[in-house]
Amino acid sequence: MMSESLATVSYIGATILFILSLGGLSNPETSRRGNLYGMLGMTIAVLATVFGPRVTMAGLPWIIGAMVVGGSIGLYAARKVQMTQMPELVALMHSLVGLAACLVGFANYIDPMASMHLSSAEKAIHEIEVYIGILIGAVTFSGSLIAFGKLAGKIGGKPLLLPGRHFLNLIGLLVVIAFGYVFLQAESIDAGMFALTVMTVIALLFGIHMVMAIGGADMPVVVSMLNSYSGWAAAATGFMLNNDLLIVTGALVGSSGAILSYIMCRAMNRNFLSVIAGGFGSGGGTPAKKGDDQPAGEVVPISAAETAELLASAKNVIIVPGYGMAVAQAQHTVNEITQFLREKGVNVRFGIHPVAGRMPGHMNVLLAEAKVPYDIVMEMDEINADFPDTDVSIVIGANDIVNPAAQEEPGSPIAGMPVLEVWKAKTSIVMKRSMASGYAGVDNPLFYKENNRMLFGDAKKMLDEVLVALKA
Ligand code: NDP
Repeated sequence: MMSESLATVSYIGATILFILSLGGLSNPETSRRGNLYGMLGMTIAVLATVFGPRVTMAGLPWIIGAMVVGGSIGLYAARKVQMTQMPELVALMHSLVGLAACLVGFANYIDPMASMHLSSAEKAIHEIEVYIGILIGAVTFSGSLIAFGKLAGKIGGKPLLLPGRHFLNLIGLLVVIAFGYVFLQAESIDAGMFALTVMTVIALLFGIHMVMAIGGADMPVVVSMLNSYSGWAAAATGFMLNNDLLIVTGALVGSSGAILSYIMCRAMNRNFLSVIAGGFGSGGGTPAKKGDDQPAGEVVPISAAETAELLASAKNVIIVPGYGMAVAQAQHTVNEITQFLREKGVNVRFGIHPVAGRMPGHMNVLLAEAKVPYDIVMEMDEINADFPDTDVSIVIGANDIVNPAAQEEPGSPIAGMPVLEVWKAKTSIVMKRSMASGYAGVDNPLFYKENNRMLFGDAKKMLDEVLVALKA
């Protein structure tokens, strides 16, 4: 078994590696290294904990058994999950962090050893840690499960707006505070458990209510917010267990998740507090329409061969990928077409919307996997002004992120959200299978614009046809 000081040094080493990891992940070119630092840090952290001074020989088989079971489930899930199911998997993982915080909190409260040598002031602090830890954990747990359901399409994207929902939340908060007082004053474990259980039930309901009230288009903020909560839940677990590494790691995840939520909010032109309060993405009370509602108008279809012709004769092309590219796994063909056109002297660039796909950075990951050069992958703000000078903008399985209704229809659920202005190119081509709406469930007037063409079909299949036509 490891000495206390060696464990501490290992923890410091792991902390440094986690910070380097976050630094690396901020840029696609260094992200591989960032991941490597993270993996190394986590290995050191796990070894230093399992073989550290806090674990007795008698406890070791239990820990190893739990690691084998947990590790096998994780390995199986990671191998089996499709790239398009990644966001759901991440949401599910967040829920486990919340659940762990709750379980550790309850176990800690009933464990007589946990508070045996504490003075009364220390005991009160310990109990506050337990109460807050379970509170954050329960909200994270139930909120993440609902987010999982929404991302997996098992729960509809329409926001659930209960009458007087802010009032309900406020009452919940007051009850949680009141029971916190009851908990701290409790004379017996039973009385304390009662207060803890009431608070946990309210926190679980609050988590469900919070995420149910959020409209489809605002889900990215919720996903990153729950990411942040899971960090704070881990930090709370660290306080309960007196584990410094868990506190630091939790705080790193919590604060980077909070920064990401802020970035997502800014990208979507949303107010952070309003998104958390719920009801956004509902168009000020008008629920988002179902996907099969279609506005009147004619769309002009185009064939793969005509698309190839337009692309080959263009000088400037901007490709806008979205969730459909991930579904179709079309990124490799996109790269081949890009390479082909660039060799012919066409200036091809990519426009990436911050909330394209179903998780932050979704498109960047796919394009990097297909080895598209980073220097032609531009963020929305960098490229939006260039559409008027573009011959062809080609939208691959994207919908909400190129919806002009965000600018043109103040009553739209996505009103005010910045979008990629693909319709300003000479010709825009939208590649998707049908006229169905995107995640936010909003109709898209882009399809009916005069200079827009629709290339109907699976993105991978259609792009393969375009590539064949280009080469011919
Ligand atoms: P959308 O969901 O708006 O649109 C995707 C489009 O892809 C659909 O309209 C669909 O149309 C099409 N599609 C699906 N499968 C295929 C296929 N095999 N081949 C071709 N097309 C296909 O995605 P966007 O990327 O435009 O926007 C992202 C949306 O997701 C936003 O509303 C965002 O708020 C939300 N979101 C984003 C998160 C994030 O962190 N990035 C997290 C949670 C939600 P059709 O069925 O006709 O083919």
